[in-house]
Amino acid sequence: MPDLMDSLRLQVISCTKCSLSKSRTNAVAGKGNCNAEIMFIGEAPGRSEDLKGEPFVGAAGKILTEVLEDAGLSRDGVFITNVVKCRPPNNRIPLEEEKISCQQYLNGELDIVKPKIICILGNTAYGSILGGNSITKNRGKIIKKNDHLYFLTIHPAAVIYTPSLKSVLKDDIKTLVKTLEKIKKGIPVETLS
Ligand code: URA
Ligand code: SF4
Repeated sequence: MPDLMDSLRLQVISCTKCSLSKSRTNAVAGKGNCNAEIMFIGEAPGRSEDLKGEPFVGAAGKILTEVLEDAGLSRDGVFITNVVKCRPPNNRIPLEEEKISCQQYLNGELDIVKPKIICILGNTAYGSILGGNSITKNRGKIIKKNDHLYFLTIHPAAVIYTPSLKSVLKDDIKTLVKTLEKIKKGIPVETLS
């Protein structure tokens, strides 16, 4: 549904609902296939994303692209977005009020794309969407909530600081792809709830 997504994007890029609108260069709406089977949700735009107006185009984005391709996925085939659409100053973690103000846009993206599985990238998305707090402990697991299936993994930026995590992220994305195949064949998948 590209026209619905276009109008949602227009709302995002002109949004002034929270104070992040004052410091941003560009608000960053989700990007990718509006009929994607998989949606990836990160935290918030960083510097490169703020300048370009696109999600995951900096160092973390490069890692995301690599692990997607390693699992046979392309950025254009999936949908990539963030919990919060504007960059927090100095890349600080988004505040509760910013996440709440921005929630309607993520919900809108989910309603339009209707992904078969949603991949949570890191603790901010885990906490904000599922109320979780230890992605390290729970990564690789699947959670069912409100008719959505969520697959948990680490944030690609964690790989920048701890390079040995790249293989963990790669393996998780491959498991995510296998999980999607099971779902499409009607094979039950094990979930936490
Ligand atoms: N980190 C995120 O969480 N999102 C981006 O878009 C870029 C970096
Ligand atoms: Fe609007 Fe979200 Fe940006 Fe806040 S972060 S101004 S709610 S788009």
